[in-house]
Amino acid sequence: MKKKPSRQYRWQQKQIALNRCARCGAERTHYAILCDACHIADRIRQQERSGSRPWQKGKRGRPPIVPLPEKKAALL
Ligand SMILES: [Zn+2]
Repeated sequence: MKKKPSRQYRWQQKQIALNRCARCGAERTHYAILCDACHIADRIRQQERSGSRPWQKGKRGRPPIVPLPEKKAALL
């Protein structure tokens, strides 16, 4: 018999279907799963963990859909 998905996972799937953030439940605009604030917070956390620097014009990589805030703490 197939195991029932967890309560948390079912809540996340419901939020995604309702066009809301799967983490905080806020309205989603640019990204598929998270709201802009959660997505930018994730990006900053990953950059600090891996030691990579933010995207810059004229350098490698795709520009972010939503640019980083001038002050990192502004959106968090
Ligand atoms: Zn969120």
